[in-house]
Amino acid sequence: MSSECTVVTGGAGFIGSHLCEVLLRDGRQVLAVDNFSTGRRKNVAHLLGQPGFALLEHDICEPLLLDTEVGLVFHLASPASPVDFSRLPLEILRVNSQGTWNALALAERSHGRFVLASTSEVYGDPLEHPQRETYWGNVNPTGPRSAYDEAKRFAEALTVAYRRRHGLSTGIARIFNSYGPRMRRDDGRVVPTFISQALEGKPLTVFGDGNQTRSFCYVGDMVGGLIALADADHPGPINLGNPQEMTISDLARMVVELTASKSPIALQPAPADDPRRRRPDISLSRDLLGWVPSTSPEAGLAKTIEYMRRETAGKSAV
Ligand code: NAD
Ligand code: UDP
Repeated sequence: MSSECTVVTGGAGFIGSHLCEVLLRDGRQVLAVDNFSTGRRKNVAHLLGQPGFALLEHDICEPLLLDTEVGLVFHLASPASPVDFSRLPLEILRVNSQGTWNALALAERSHGRFVLASTSEVYGDPLEHPQRETYWGNVNPTGPRSAYDEAKRFAEALTVAYRRRHGLSTGIARIFNSYGPRMRRDDGRVVPTFISQALEGKPLTVFGDGNQTRSFCYVGDMVGGLIALADADHPGPINLGNPQEMTISDLARMVVELTASKSPIALQPAPADDPRRRRPDISLSRDLLGWVPSTSPEAGLAKTIEYMRRETAGKSAV
């Protein structure tokens, strides 16, 4: 086992907890840092007590000084669901600015590598389709999504500035819609919302006309992409996502079918500034990292449904 530590901020969150699990399995020492604002202790409860894993309750907006060498920092700490854009706007702006600064400083002190979890939201409501990393985006700087979109754009700029000023090895991952086990039922994002509604026999709330598209990536694939970027020397930004695009209506129908639910579909008003379409061009990740996602929507959704069923039944679900 390497004596250097890998820090995962947001390590008790949805993606962060899966990332910790795989890093640990790879024989790395892992420190998950989380303030549990949107994450849950239970996401990493099964890792506590395993050799090489530690969990620290800490707000990364405060400086983090560790008495160990940090070879790698994954900075995932940030609320990420659109319902949090209005619930936690100042927290989002703070963790992506001051929090990113502190996470960069942590990596810099040990001359480690830093990987930022950025987002396809930097493209806003994209006028280019599919989205390539060279596209600068179409973001409303004062709209309902602005706290998140602009915070992530700032985090990218800060990461690049840190690299230029301090020569720090940094990588920026632009993560597209990811889903899987350990998303909270009340997370607000579309996949856990639809599954939860279908399992409870409630109408699936499709916003707008349902013709808007997203490209959903299973969390197991996403974690592989993040680690491939960390292990490379590439600065990014690099899109990570599954280019298989679908309409939200199609997703609703697929969830109803896979859960064998009788739930109807109920159209509701579209939220303001809801991006019309989103699909990553993943040529860069394929060519530079050798990474492409491999999990089909049916297989990934089936695993997520199984997790949510077990959780509802009060059975252990990790
Ligand atoms: P999540 O909410 O499950 O995880 C975020 C974690 O960060 C939570 O555990 C939360 O408690 C923690 N956190 C928030 N503020 C913190 C702070 N100040 N200090 C310490 N910890 C803090 O969300 P997720 O979907 O796992 O997203 C992880 C990262 O990936 C986020 O940065 C998000 O913006 C990015 N991302 C996710 C997606 C996706 O589809 N899941 C898409 C694009 C980008
Ligand atoms: N959506 C929906 N019903 C819901 C939640 C979301 O139709 O109950 C739609 C939302 O309007 C968007 C898409 O699903 O078009 C993806 O939303 P999500 O909140 O998962 O993430 P986003 O990609 O918008 O950040």
